[in-house]
Amino acid sequence: MTRKILLNPGPATTTQNVKDALVVEDICPRETEFGNLMHEISDGLLEIGQGRKDYNVALFGASGTGAMEATLTSAIGKEDKVLILTNGAYGIRMTQICKNYGINYGTLFEYGDYTEPLKVKEALTSNSYTHLAFIHHETSTGMMDPVEELVALCRELQVVSIVDAMSTFGAYPYNLTELGVDYIFSSSNKCIHGMAGLSFVLFHNNRKEELKANGRSYYFDVYKQWENLQMKSQLRFTPPVQICYSFMAAIEETLEEGVEKRWERYKANWQILYDGLLDLGFKPLLPLDQESKILLALRLDGKEGFDFDHFHDYLYERNITIYPGVMPEKATFRVAIIGDLYPEDMHRVMEEMTGYFNS
Ligand SMILES: *Cc1c(COP(=O)(O)O)cnc(C)c1O
Repeated sequence: MTRKILLNPGPATTTQNVKDALVVEDICPRETEFGNLMHEISDGLLEIGQGRKDYNVALFGASGTGAMEATLTSAIGKEDKVLILTNGAYGIRMTQICKNYGINYGTLFEYGDYTEPLKVKEALTSNSYTHLAFIHHETSTGMMDPVEELVALCRELQVVSIVDAMSTFGAYPYNLTELGVDYIFSSSNKCIHGMAGLSFVLFHNNRKEELKANGRSYYFDVYKQWENLQMKSQLRFTPPVQICYSFMAAIEETLEEGVEKRWERYKANWQILYDGLLDLGFKPLLPLDQESKILLALRLDGKEGFDFDHFHDYLYERNITIYPGVMPEKATFRVAIIGDLYPEDMHRVMEEMTGYFNS
């Protein structure tokens, strides 16, 4: 198999070990043996997030948006109202889910705005919000929100916190017990470097009563999904069996490397692309202090004659995948360093990109 360098923000470049773990003996997922795997996955996720003491896990056979939908529809009651920070595509997706289910919500920020905690505080105190939902790393722009400050603010104001950690969990060193977030969710195929098909919600012990009362989706019910695994050692519905084995291998690799070390590796990889692409004349979308170091969005203004699709195809033929941008009214493209990628891969990417502009 040719090793592909995926610079799209997940599904990411995986190790051979994670790919090989897909091939297992056939098994009925209602067997104890498989139930044990579900418990091991849950424990592994709590270990990655350092939340063993105070957190619980609900697993869903779904892409990341499934976990987002599960959290919003399970956490927010009929009388509640959630403030959603809409400074990118994924914040906006949260509003769409709320619309579909008739969940009360308000919004703050426009696409690309920086998440100023003071403005969030103002909005939370001047309105009767019960919940705050935001994206830790807005994968649409590459912006990192100040998660510690925002969650601390929620605790101070007694507002329930909901964090989309889709493109951070596994790479960003969380200490959930210290952070004290109420809900945080992610999926198998981003910074944990597993295959696509599983997503998960971590919720604080204190949220159980609220979850039990508020669930309004049949499939995406966080409480029922968690409870079923505790009581019966089974998920409620058929999980993606082989993906689960492969996910466990990816979790083990994450724990072996260590989240702190993975985070250092990501930052080193990001810096190589940042320096190299700026040398090639691209400008970053964001100021440096807002950059996640997980994904880099580049502006195309000032690059007259640059054809993204042509550039993409040139690199794709060389086993490198880059990703288009999603900013409304602003031409961008994106490179993410999520995955089993190393500085030598980034140097190869820059060589090929430089080759393109010199040819
Ligand atoms: C990838 C991602 C999602 C979920 O996307 P899926 O395609 O459903 O897996 C949600 N939020 C963020 C921030 C993401 O990066």
